[in-house]
This record gives sequence, structure tokens and C-alpha cells, in this order.
Amino acid sequence: MDKKTKILATIGPASDNENIIENLVKAGVNAFRMNFSHGDHQYHKSNLEKIRNVEKKLGVRIGIFQDISGPKVRVGKIDGVFKLNSEDRLIFVKEQVKGEQIDNKTYKICINHPDILKLIKVGEYIYLCDGSIRAKVVLANENSVEAVLENSGILTSNKGVNFPNTKINIDIITDKDKKDLEWGAKEGVNFVAVSFVQTSKDVLRVRKILDEFNSKAKVFAKIEKFDAVENIDEIIKVSDGIMVARGDLGIEVPYYEVPNIQKMIIKKANEQARPVITATQMMLSMTQNERATRAEISDVANAVLDGTDAVMLSEESAVGIDPVGVVKAMSNTIKETEKIYPYNKFDDYKFFDETDMIASSSCALASRLGAKGILSITGSGKSAIKMARNRPNIDILAIAHDEQTAHFLTLAWGVNPVLVKEKNSVTLLVAEVVKALYEQNNIDENYTYVMTAGFPTGVEGSTNYIRILKQDQIEYYKNILNKK
Ligand code: PGA
Ligand code: MN
Repeated sequence: MDKKTKILATIGPASDNENIIENLVKAGVNAFRMNFSHGDHQYHKSNLEKIRNVEKKLGVRIGIFQDISGPKVRVGKIDGVFKLNSEDRLIFVKEQVKGEQIDNKTYKICINHPDILKLIKVGEYIYLCDGSIRAKVVLANENSVEAVLENSGILTSNKGVNFPNTKINIDIITDKDKKDLEWGAKEGVNFVAVSFVQTSKDVLRVRKILDEFNSKAKVFAKIEKFDAVENIDEIIKVSDGIMVARGDLGIEVPYYEVPNIQKMIIKKANEQARPVITATQMMLSMTQNERATRAEISDVANAVLDGTDAVMLSEESAVGIDPVGVVKAMSNTIKETEKIYPYNKFDDYKFFDETDMIASSSCALASRLGAKGILSITGSGKSAIKMARNRPNIDILAIAHDEQTAHFLTLAWGVNPVLVKEKNSVTLLVAEVVKALYEQNNIDENYTYVMTAGFPTGVEGSTNYIRILKQDQIEYYKNILNKK
């Protein structure tokens, strides 16, 4: 593996072609995000098929990450373009009307979740266009809310609206989300990201819906609300992974708090062995420009050093001028930064169970032996991620027994998933592992490996075994299958 930090790239009109997808993977993409705020099921299905084709062609595993839109509040349709100035007045009405200018300082608009209007109080702030326009509420009654702009900006149809001061009780799982979850279950997506999570209950409800649809997808909570930051511990506990969704987060909390919150979330997610993604605006200027800014390169590097498992691209790869170029720039930055990475954190964390102790001990052992890699035989993927928490500077080859677990590990730091179905006989299992690694050109018989497993095999949470595999043993296991 030439880099340990993973890349999650959003697929869109600029990248929805099989050739580009293949080049994106070759440049370092480990999983693709399908943004369900855009596109219909037919569009996502055609992308999914293209990704699966590339996966087969290249013989690698690529994760499919379904990001459901949740109750993203947007303004309705607008007649033309509003060129808004400071001191102008916006009147939000509950009827679904086309936005119009009333006089030279007043505009009437609606939003797609009109029930929110009755919750808004005088003195609160409303943000438009992803935070770029700010308005203070001066009048609020049953039928409408009036706000005065504090800066200028351009407003067009369907732009995002945020109410960072308002307690909004709307359901974070919309009817559209339910249909999208059902679709994702049918198509076998590997991850589901839940937008605007506020409490652990939100995550558990999505998990329940997925169970009802028989989906094995892993649930990632997007942290982009003030309440989610407040409830971060309980949310991490019930989630399979976390996304630091800095776009909405930077509006919902003061923008200057985002770096501290990012570091805090990554640290907690690392400790609990939950893969964590750092998202939004990482290389934004490359949507239009050939080169990233120095600040963007530093942002990616710093997220890597913070301990993120993955970095994400949004517009950059979905609608930008050069998606492959962005991924190359991101990969180069990751690889260079990993040269100074603070590896070998096996004394840094609390042990929550025996698997944590095994993981820490085997990383220490591998380091002392100068081993080439760690083979983690993992039923659910959990023990491989617990291994990754220690951030060893050698490969973690995770041996999964099913495709879903192997795909889940595409977003885990430093983990290279390998599928080996055999799990009944330990001897055959190890033999199959060695064979699979040879086929992938991933094993080197001149080196030592450390292997961990659980007995009985295939039972979650049973990791209880560390073994040193040296050259002669690798040779022995290689020959078992040849003899059969
Ligand atoms: P979004 O989420 O792109 O779906 O809004 C990410 C974020 O808010 O950062
Ligand atoms: Mn968001």
C-alpha cells in the first residue's frame, strides 16, 4: 500500500464515466460517495455499475458510500436572481410560492420545510447560501418571519438555509430518505451516511430501518449540527463511523471553532476505533483551478496528522474541471505527510476489551520483530480497525470472510482488505490467506508477519491469538494447497 489515509470521492457529472472512475481509483480513491441530494435512482444505479466494473477490472475493493440528504432546508424557486444588499428585508412565508421582489428593499421567499418558521424567534439568525448571507430576525408570527440582511450576496433558487440558533424538531429522516435507504439496501451499498444527526437515537433509527430492509450497510453519522457536537460520545458509540461535515458544521457553530471540533472528534473516534472522515472544501479551489492553494494542501496534511482515517472530496470530484488531478494532488500530499506521521501509538489508548490488548501487543511485537505486515483475521472488521487504531507503520492485511466486511474496511486507515471465505479449519484458513496474498502480490516470503485471529473463528469479539509467521511457515502453508 502506498498510502495509509484513505480517499472518499464524490461522484458526479465530472466523474461519472467508467474511464475516469478507473483513473480515480488508480490515483488513490478507495471509496465513492453518492450524494443523494442530487440525481435520481437511475443515475446512482448506473454509477454503481460502473464502479463495480472497475472494481472487477482492477481486482481491488472499492467502497460505495450512500449519503442520504436528510432535511436539508432550502429556499423555494425564485424569480430570476436576487441581488441582495445589506439592510434589505427578507420575508419568509409558509405558503409554497415563487420568490419575488416586492419593492426595492423587500423580497418574499418560501422554504421547503415551512413548519420551521413557527419555531423561529426574534433576534435569531438565518443563514443563506451555505452561510455566505446572514440575516437577523426582526419579526416572527404564525404566518411569516421577517429578517434584515447584515451583508450582501446573490440568492438563487433552491439555495441552502441554516437556522443555527433555532431548535428545530423536524424528523431528520425524510420520506425521500426512506425510499433512498430502501434503494441502497437493494443495491447493496456498503455505507450509509446520515445527515444532520442530533442524537444517538437518530443513528439507531436509521439502523433499524436498514435492518428492516435487510441491509448490512455500515452507518456513518455526519457531525454538522451543534447538538451532534454536544452529544458526540453517545453518537460515536452507536455509529460504525463518523464524518466531520465541516460545510454545515461551520454555519451551525462559530466558524473559528471548526478546527478544534475536528481534532476533538477525530481523537474520540480513533479511541473508539470508529473510522472517521474529514469532509468538505479540502481542495475546493481545484473545482475551478488547476492547482490547490497552499492552505488547502496544509488542510489535507493537518487532517492526516490529526489522525483522520479518510479525507473527502465533494464538488472537486463531482463537478470540478479535473477530478483525477485533484485526487493525485491529494494522494501526493497524503504520502508526503505520512513520512512524518506519528506511528506506533500502541501505548496511547485505553483498553476497552481483550481485542484492544491483542491489537496493541501485536503492533508492538511487529515493530520489535521488524515485521513486514500484520495479518488480522476479522469476522466483523472490528479487530482490524482496533489494530489500525495503533497506527502501525507497516501494512495491516485484514482477512475478511465476506464481501460486506471487506468493503467496510476500504475506509479504515492503513487497512488493506482481503477476502478469504474459508473459516472452519485454521490450517486451511491460513493456507488460503497466504495464497490470496500471493495472488495479490502482497506477501513477501523473505519477511516475517504477525497474525492475529480468534478461536473459534468467525465469532465476533473472540480475538485471542497472536502468531509469528516466518519464512518457513509461509512456505509450508503455501505448499499445503499445492499438495491438495
Ligand atoms: P453535505 O455534507 O455536502 O451533504 O452538505 C457535508 C458537509 O456539510 O460538510
Ligand atoms: Mn452537510
